[in-house]
Amino acid sequence: MGAGAGMERSRIVIAGGGLAGLSLSLALKRALGDGVDVVMCDPALSRDPHGDRRSYAIAAAARRMFQALGIWDQMVDKAQPILDMVITDSSLQDPVRPTFLTFEGAVEGEAFAHMVTSGDLTALLLDACRDIGVNLRPEGVKSFSAQGARTEVTLTGGEMVSAALLVAADGARSRLREQAGIGWIFWPYHQSAIVSTISHERDHEGRAVEHFLPAGPFAILPLKDEVRADGTVQHRSSIVWSERSENVPALLESHPEDLQAELEKRFGLQLGKIAFETKPQAYPLAFGVARSFVGERLALLGDAAHLIHPIAGQGLNLGLHDVAALAEIITDAMRLGQDPGSADVLMQYERARRADITAMGIMTDGLNRLFSNDLLPVRLIRDFGLGLVDRMPGLKRFFIREAAGLRRDDAPRLLKGEAL
Ligand SMILES: Cc1cc2nc3c(=O)[nH]c(=O)nc-3n(C[C@H](O)[C@H](O)[C@H](O)COP(=O)(O)OP(=O)(O)OC[C@H]3O[C@@H](n4cnc5c(N)ncnc54)[C@H](O)[C@@H]3O)c2cc1C
Repeated sequence: MGAGAGMERSRIVIAGGGLAGLSLSLALKRALGDGVDVVMCDPALSRDPHGDRRSYAIAAAARRMFQALGIWDQMVDKAQPILDMVITDSSLQDPVRPTFLTFEGAVEGEAFAHMVTSGDLTALLLDACRDIGVNLRPEGVKSFSAQGARTEVTLTGGEMVSAALLVAADGARSRLREQAGIGWIFWPYHQSAIVSTISHERDHEGRAVEHFLPAGPFAILPLKDEVRADGTVQHRSSIVWSERSENVPALLESHPEDLQAELEKRFGLQLGKIAFETKPQAYPLAFGVARSFVGERLALLGDAAHLIHPIAGQGLNLGLHDVAALAEIITDAMRLGQDPGSADVLMQYERARRADITAMGIMTDGLNRLFSNDLLPVRLIRDFGLGLVDRMPGLKRFFIREAAGLRRDDAPRLLKGEAL
């Protein structure tokens, strides 16, 4: 790839084509068109996006961003709105699970979140990036070296690319963050989340359920019905089943009937007969946050900057907030003729994201500590708290706006559904 004089300033390399990296590529190219050369590098670009079996709750603010980026209309048929939410708190042995908290899913006239599969959303983003002219490179970034007005990025194939800015969207184990010498505050939760799609007999009616169990939360998240080739309709939900990590290998290797029995104990029988649709996959859970979100001509994005517990389904949403903030800061700077990789511009990003990420990290960590234990006094206090919230409509509205990502008036334009 040639790096002629003048070109370097307007080239941005994004390392990592997960949902965060792809969304940033699309946002920048849509806003700046020929004014920017967006190079997206990830060896995974040549893989089938449907290989990742996870599903995500996309909060209303992030949905508005996808609308502004012009892809939500194609997602609507595949996205299941969460219409209400039920939270219970009990031990596995308890004969009944009392409901402590219920939320109606609507906020400001729309669902507070939609469930989408990672495969569907990734495939759509990839197509949109390709159509708009993002330079898609199915290879990794090996190393980089910032020198004055540019950074020299070396791809795994050996090619060197000169850019004004490198964005590390290479996930929680970011090699680029490490190479930049940026510290990572980290602790493992000793919990793993087992993820699978479950088919069930009865309609979920758009209801999400979260059972707080002592080993960790067990969430049932409604997916859009699937119409099979023979015309039959299959009701489906995604589960995020947290367990102590030491118990997970034995659980996953157990006889299918035993695993099914364990699933039924947690899922319940309210949706009729249930079955695993996809092979359960386990993800170890941990907390991590970068000491800085920027380095020399480098910005960290998504899980490369922060890793949180999925207890509130907010990890990707936090990354999409990074996307909205960084895309706006870069676009505004470049329209003013500023260098998008300069320290001034990058510091704006650091300042814009630090408080939100810290608050979400503390909140999810605290919730997990509060709920993933079976001590009677702790249970009594938290159940009292949940019951209190349930009876206070104002507080409930606050929490639902929070979960929808709509609480801030000074949010980046994309999160309000406005174009850049
Ligand atoms: C069980 C579970 C359930 C979850 N549920 C939710 C939910 O409901 N809602 C929600 O908001 N979040 C959820 N999350 C969090 C969410 O999965 C992550 O926050 C999100 O996937 C991170 O996206 P990302 O693009 O930042 O990183 P990743 O998806 O990790 O993508 C990183 C990409 O970088 C590439 N890469 C790595 N190294 C290089 C390199 N050197 N050069 C180029 N490319 C490279 C990789 O191939 C990969 O494609 C959940 C997480 C878990 C574990």
